[in-house]
Amino acid sequence: MRKGIHGRSCGDSCCLRVQDLSVKIGSDKILKDVNLHIHCGQMVALIGPNGAGKSTLLKAILGQREYDGVIAFSAPGMRHRKPPRIGYVPQSPSFDPGDPVSVADLFACCMSKRPAFLGLSAAMRDKVMECLERVHGEDLIDKRVGALSGGELQRVLLALALEPLPNILILDEPLSGVDVEGQTGLMDMLDEIRHRYDLSILMTTHDFGMLPRYADKVVLIDHAVLCKGTPAEVLDSSEFARVFRTKGGKA
Ligand code: ADP
Ligand code: MG
Repeated sequence: MRKGIHGRSCGDSCCLRVQDLSVKIGSDKILKDVNLHIHCGQMVALIGPNGAGKSTLLKAILGQREYDGVIAFSAPGMRHRKPPRIGYVPQSPSFDPGDPVSVADLFACCMSKRPAFLGLSAAMRDKVMECLERVHGEDLIDKRVGALSGGELQRVLLALALEPLPNILILDEPLSGVDVEGQTGLMDMLDEIRHRYDLSILMTTHDFGMLPRYADKVVLIDHAVLCKGTPAEVLDSSEFARVFRTKGGKA
């Protein structure tokens, strides 16, 4: 049985539950009656056309959007409905290519009160290295953030999102801007991370070819849940064919 991030075996009893969730922005109903369960250790992919409300759903779970309905998290030893610890990497993060900030500086700004221009203490550098080890990114520590490739930037932001270790990792289109080889490397690493730390991953993607190999569950939304199930069930569904006018491949 897997061990949760608290060191206990949870036997799938950790659960993020989204129930009857609706989101309105102004007078527009962006999401309606969304129901979803994510258990610890699961990789769940949220798919749908542009403008379907995928990012909005992630932001509601993050507490950045008002909603009607229930978003609740439960885990052994945790009081019911205590908010989970969530790690988040937003959609299309970008840094100025000329920005002198290094990966080490970025971590120092996020993790320490000491101004980054004073340089990193030896202890902080060790801590940053420990964080980067989780994503096999030790070699990136002195690189400028603006000079990182799409895949390298995702790894660095992932390392930041994993400190402290969250219950749930939310990634909004982590594969966009990453070349095909980098995409497989990133998905392999996410797979390793969720097994090692027994955390749930909820990610949006348009790269449907990755789903059968990596996702436990796929949820197709277009303002409401159209279909959910295993990757094969969703990719072969009439709803998927109707929304994307194709079967499999990339939208
Ligand atoms: P997706 O991530 O699936 O592409 P989004 O969740 O970003 O879709 O957006 C869903 C819909 O909500 C879109 O029509 C978008 O224009 C609208 N929307 C998202 N954020 C805002 C906002 N802050 N103000 C107004 N409309 C928004
Ligand atoms: Mg989006």
